[in-house]
Amino acid sequence: MKAPVLLLLLAALPLSAWGDKGHRIVCTLALKGLPPEVQAWYAGHEAEVEDHASDPDHWRQDRKEGPRHFLDMEPYGGPDQLPRTLEQAQARLGGDFYRRGVVPWIIQDRWRDLVDAFRARDAARVALATSILSHYVADAHVPLHTTENHDGQATNQRGVHSRWETGLVERFVLREEMRALPAAADPRILERPWDWLRSSHALVPQLLEDDRAADRTTPVDGHGRAARSQAYWMIFWAKQGPTVQGQLQQAGKHLGDAVITAWVAAGRPEGPTPLPVIH
Ligand SMILES: [Zn+2]
Repeated sequence: MKAPVLLLLLAALPLSAWGDKGHRIVCTLALKGLPPEVQAWYAGHEAEVEDHASDPDHWRQDRKEGPRHFLDMEPYGGPDQLPRTLEQAQARLGGDFYRRGVVPWIIQDRWRDLVDAFRARDAARVALATSILSHYVADAHVPLHTTENHDGQATNQRGVHSRWETGLVERFVLREEMRALPAAADPRILERPWDWLRSSHALVPQLLEDDRAADRTTPVDGHGRAARSQAYWMIFWAKQGPTVQGQLQQAGKHLGDAVITAWVAAGRPEGPTPLPVIH
């Protein structure tokens, strides 16, 4: 009984961006980049922010959840033709629009939740809202979350999605070497998700090319499946490592920008007084 259930679960595993490690790194970088008066809101809640950053990937049994993590650009004619509102998206694609992804609008919604949490002066709520927002901001920085060819299926590169966002991150990214960029308030924060997605999308062709180049070293196992060698991973990392690290760093910076801007929108509330430590 157990094995078939496990197989079913594995078969149903969603494409989860960044994996848990990447999502945690984005949160850490964002909190580090905050000015002290905003950082004060997270004192004692840092672990919670990280711990819930992958939660939205576990909500996908709800069929509406999947498309909240990406936006396919091709159905709209590419990065310069994207709709700004859900109404525009629907007008362009009809009933198909939702399944093509809605991540920029979800980022807007989750950012408003964070503003509400700051307004409520509720540090636990601030931490959770930040965590959930972080997930979608981080996903928007994954190049393969902006394209129909999200798993290399159109270019005979199946699996490239997890090789890039999980395989490389798990194997090579060193948390302690990641540097946080200082965050700043951004009055146009609600428009930024489109900029982030366009920047991500511009990285797609090179990413796919580098995977193909690394794959030329890849032996094929007896079952006809490609088993990636250590050489594959070394080459793919040498080519894409700076991009992986850069996108994690940018996601952290942009999450920090979103946090400060939410705090400003809520009237710059003073952080809660820390509870006295009992020894
Ligand atoms: Zn996701």
